[in-house]
Amino acid sequence: MAIHATVAGIPRIGPNRELKIALEKYWRDPATAGLLAATARGLVHRYIDSANAAGIDSIPTVGRSFYDSMLDTSALLGVLPSRFDTIPDCIGANLPAWIDRYFATARGTETQPASAMTKWFDTNYHYIVPELSSRTVFRPDVATWLGEACNFRAYSKGVIRPHLIGPYTYLALARTDDGSDPLALLEQLVDAYQDIIVRLGAEGFEWVQLDEPIAVTDLDDGARQRLRRCYQVLSDAAEAAGAKLWVQTYFGDGDQALEIFSGTGVGAIGVDLVAGGAELPHWTGQEVLVAGIVDGRNVWRRDLDEALNILENLADRGEIIVSTSCSLLHVPYSLRAETPTESEAEIHDWLAFGEEKIAEVALLARVLQARINGTDITADDAAALRRARVAVGKRATSELIHNERVERRVAAVGEQDRTRTPFERRRAAQEKTLNLPELPTTTIGSFPQTAEIRRARARLRRGDLTPERYDAAMIAEIREVIERQEELGLDVLVHGEPERNDMVQYFSEQLDGYLATTNGWVQSYGSRCVRPPILFGDVSRPEPMTVRWYEAAATMTSRQVKGMLTGPVTMLAWSFVRDDQPLGTTADQVALALRDEIADLVAAGARIIQVDEPAIRELLPLRKEDQPAYLEWAVGSFRLATAGVADDIQIHTHMCYSEFNELIGTIGDLDADVTSIEAARNGMQVLAALSNAGYAQGIGPGVWDIHSPRVPGQQEVDDLISDALASVDPKLLWINPDCGLKTRGWPETIASLKVLVKAAKKARSAAEPLSEVRAGAEPVSEGARVL
Ligand code: GLN
Ligand code: ZN
Repeated sequence: MAIHATVAGIPRIGPNRELKIALEKYWRDPATAGLLAATARGLVHRYIDSANAAGIDSIPTVGRSFYDSMLDTSALLGVLPSRFDTIPDCIGANLPAWIDRYFATARGTETQPASAMTKWFDTNYHYIVPELSSRTVFRPDVATWLGEACNFRAYSKGVIRPHLIGPYTYLALARTDDGSDPLALLEQLVDAYQDIIVRLGAEGFEWVQLDEPIAVTDLDDGARQRLRRCYQVLSDAAEAAGAKLWVQTYFGDGDQALEIFSGTGVGAIGVDLVAGGAELPHWTGQEVLVAGIVDGRNVWRRDLDEALNILENLADRGEIIVSTSCSLLHVPYSLRAETPTESEAEIHDWLAFGEEKIAEVALLARVLQARINGTDITADDAAALRRARVAVGKRATSELIHNERVERRVAAVGEQDRTRTPFERRRAAQEKTLNLPELPTTTIGSFPQTAEIRRARARLRRGDLTPERYDAAMIAEIREVIERQEELGLDVLVHGEPERNDMVQYFSEQLDGYLATTNGWVQSYGSRCVRPPILFGDVSRPEPMTVRWYEAAATMTSRQVKGMLTGPVTMLAWSFVRDDQPLGTTADQVALALRDEIADLVAAGARIIQVDEPAIRELLPLRKEDQPAYLEWAVGSFRLATAGVADDIQIHTHMCYSEFNELIGTIGDLDADVTSIEAARNGMQVLAALSNAGYAQGIGPGVWDIHSPRVPGQQEVDDLISDALASVDPKLLWINPDCGLKTRGWPETIASLKVLVKAAKKARSAAEPLSEVRAGAEPVSEGARVL
């Protein structure tokens, strides 16, 4: 038996974000279409070359992908939204004819909104949500796609494997505009896929990969039956055309996928052996098992000895192909692009990015093959195995990871450390010290990150600006932000976060236990990339992280200034995290660092502190049975961070960007005094859900959708506030935007906040005609300054 090596999926953005650059150029200037076409093609070629060189036998590709696989699938299936039908074909640039409609779907046009975008399972990658309806008719554009696949096959001398999102996952993640169930389209879609598969078979492609990650999520019997049936039909079509289906799953328990797909006639089933177990009782050996043994989502070197044991056991039971647990889209391209300092070099030795993971997969396949054949491995492979063993061993015992003081402190945490006094007591104490008007107005933290701010940061990085002058520039910006907020008449001010490149990166750079990368870019959506820091060791805070900025702002005003921090769950969600201890332990370490920061902010005079958790929904496990354990540590770490303060200190939290329906109860469990939450786009629906769930603490539903530069109309905001007042006690209601303003420009920021403040004032006088002029009164507390 020959042991092959492959990967579950390949990234599209390029080792140096080449696609990002070409895309943004093309969006600004369509005359650069040729460059975009060539860049995208060149990137696939390079990937094929490097995979070949590493000893990978095949790679999946859909052809050139310009933005997102779900969107690619929509384009292939001929179901881009009809509102973009008027956008003409792109001709003569060697790009697909529909490319401008494809980009319009992803990004919107001046007159038409984009399709929704949401998180891909439990990752921080975002896909474009297909827009379907009961009237949808799939009209696959196979020719374009087939042409691309053939070109790449010719280039690659055969190593590519055509790859698409599977029909069931595609529909399960789609939305309809008429309330119909997208899965009602399954039979029709399976017909379309049959055609595609037949054409591929006729072209001589041996394997066709269809991704069905949905198969690892909670599925009832009916869904499993339909999924099976669908693959029986597709396998028959493939067989008739001389091709075989490869159904790829990831992000969860592969055994459930095996149970579903086994015996349907598919040729190979890909499973994630990192997220799920390796016992795989439902694997009968009838299909090839694509063993996702190398973690495609995290950056650690694989323990190759352990991996080989698992693979050897599996190879005893049937044919296997060695692979990654999921697409390498989720990790940076290569460690070679990193420039570690001397002290970081040791940590680098523990890491594997995309290229290194490909090498691991290929090495595992060769070593396994040798073991099965009873032959020797090459001296190079033996050396590589040894190096890996040493690195993994060093990591386990390294002093860089273990900080005894931190570990002891976490071990000593008790329930009392996560518990504040009852809300009503805190509320009374806070009312006394804060002296805020009813329906207080505030913002979520950031103000526009102007080109000047970003330029200053770039100059600091290059050494063109001294730290002192950089600080002075930031202080000047803070002064501006404070003055504008005072002019606007906002009640609780923020310093505006000009010093933060990113809400996670900023803190990770100041915490011990975190490592930054130089070029570790990962696509977040479209042309947007992030560079998640690597949380490698016990976390501690050598010094205060935000206090000086808070202090600077507080001395500039007599109003309350909110301290601004990123919560422990979000600090984990947007980082590469340790895999050598439970996430909850890591979260508690971060929480303790934040708890110390909060104590320092309070000592500096802060009376209101916001701890943002926009990512709390994102880490929610896919399977219901796994969710309670997650919520316990997530909530516990937030409370550990925030429960150390006295009753009169007001803790805020903020959430956004996701469907919170499953988390409604959790919001109350966090026990923040005030929660601000994105609500403008869904017309305050979240409020009813919250009050049904018994939430009765402060709440700031967003009344301004900050995702576009549009300034909301006065009536619109007035209406949102009166809707909110229908389900919230006016004494608990805050008036704020949906989210931070860092991506907005100043003109719309000022104009929109004017509307917001005016709406709050109007609502105050309407809600409380008899109250003395508390509304609008200047806060008298000088709390922030006298201390
Ligand atoms: N305080 C952050 C800001 O205003 C919150 C960002 C977020 O919710 N993603 O930018
Ligand atoms: Zn937000």
